[in-house]
Amino acid sequence: MILAHTSVDVHRALTVSPHPIGFVPTMGALHDGHASLFDVARASCATVVASIFVNALQFDQQSDLERYPRPLERDLEICREHGVDIVYVPDHETMYPSDFSTVVSVGRLGRILEGAHRPGHFDGVATVVTKLLSAVRPDVAYFGQKDLQQVAVIERLNSDLDLGVEIRTEPTVRDDDGLALSSRNVRLSETARRQALAIPRALEFARDTARSTGSSPTEVSRSMYEQLTASGLKVDYAIVLDADSFQESDSITDRSVALIAATVDGVRLIDNCFLRADH
Ligand code: AMP
Repeated sequence: MILAHTSVDVHRALTVSPHPIGFVPTMGALHDGHASLFDVARASCATVVASIFVNALQFDQQSDLERYPRPLERDLEICREHGVDIVYVPDHETMYPSDFSTVVSVGRLGRILEGAHRPGHFDGVATVVTKLLSAVRPDVAYFGQKDLQQVAVIERLNSDLDLGVEIRTEPTVRDDDGLALSSRNVRLSETARRQALAIPRALEFARDTARSTGSSPTEVSRSMYEQLTASGLKVDYAIVLDADSFQESDSITDRSVALIAATVDGVRLIDNCFLRADH
């Protein structure tokens, strides 16, 4: 496994690497959700590249950035175990030298939901992903459905900027109790973790309701919100939207997705599921 610290190192390593090149960008603190992306990439690509970079630009809270776990040695071990060929680990100054001044901003999609609650978040995501895709120039890039709005933002910039990368979205990996794996879960106390299960329960409820009743997206959204607040969570949003437009629609369709962001004991968690699919 090759460790690359600059985009020049990445280019050098990739000139002798066979295509297709699959790329998995991460912020490290790797878990089975990340590993599942490495595995899908490994299964269909000749070369697998991962990046580990905690992108300061996408954090709206300094304390969240400072507390973000950075277990690099363990992360590299996981990359190795899952067959990653090249790990790109740039540092902040390499990515953002003092004269760095370009911002990639995708418009409305970057300003709603996560973008509304975390101002500047998606400009940070769009900027770093554009830089990473430009450095690696993969044939395929893999992202988790857990961050569905993030994938939509990345699809937008990939299309708008003619980057020509195939964007793949892979299902959310969950713990046995249903909680979506997240690098932030380690900050949950035992009690908070139990409380956080209200999130997958609300999504399950949304899916059951959508299947068994003629409830409208608005009614399903309201029920999810009520359930979550009744469980003591501070809800930023609990909403059913069309996954392609990220707009509300009049009725439930195959593209209806329920999205939740809520804080439990100071830890902000997000999750989502399609209402007419099993993920
Ligand atoms: P992060 O390190 O949180 O920036 O995530 C890196 C990639 O892993 C993103 O594409 C995430 O959507 C994806 N990811 C994070 N958690 C999960 C999960 N539980 N299941 C599947 N993919 C995930």
